[in-house]
Amino acid sequence: MWFPNCSGGGWEREGLALSGGPAPSQRFRVGQRLELRELARKLARLGQSEYDKIKFDRPRPLPEPPMATWHCVSNCGACCNLTPQDRPDLDQYLSAENLGLYHSMVGEDGWCIHYSKERRQCNIYSDRPSFCRVQADTFEAMFDIDPEELDEFAIDCCEQQIEGVYGANSDELRRFDQAVNGIEA
Ligand code: SF4
Ligand code: SF4
Repeated sequence: MWFPNCSGGGWEREGLALSGGPAPSQRFRVGQRLELRELARKLARLGQSEYDKIKFDRPRPLPEPPMATWHCVSNCGACCNLTPQDRPDLDQYLSAENLGLYHSMVGEDGWCIHYSKERRQCNIYSDRPSFCRVQADTFEAMFDIDPEELDEFAIDCCEQQIEGVYGANSDELRRFDQAVNGIEA
């Protein structure tokens, strides 16, 4: 699923903005952490008993997966690319009123008319629509996501959106993964 939109520029939970690419060794650590997080998701689907079986059948203890917490990162703005063709299921989670508002915000190039590409920031940040806000009540209303699942869901949404807009090997995606996994650049 594509992110409907969120905060669009790295202003929420600020202070976590990272700059520059990671050193090769850090890049390896990012890969390891992402693999662990994916493993944790698979294990959650299997259930605790299967987790115990795998954990204790291994010759060495399985490391605890790192906690990932959603953060918006600065100099991203991927979710402010509103191209409707990339979000064919908009009408499934936006009300008729918000759907109209969404379409009214789409510029000719697909980016939000309120988005500053130069600064990579929202020009109406404090007044942005509800569907631009990554918060528990918004996501529960739009996607029926429990508040405790917000981090994981929002992380997946951001990763899909950033990859779609900037690419799988983009600096934006690398910085985002570093931020949510608590890796300092
Ligand atoms: S895609 Fe995610 S990280 Fe990027 S601006 Fe939007 S909320 Fe922030
Ligand atoms: S109003 Fe536009 S620029 Fe601002 S956060 Fe929403 S999509 Fe991004």
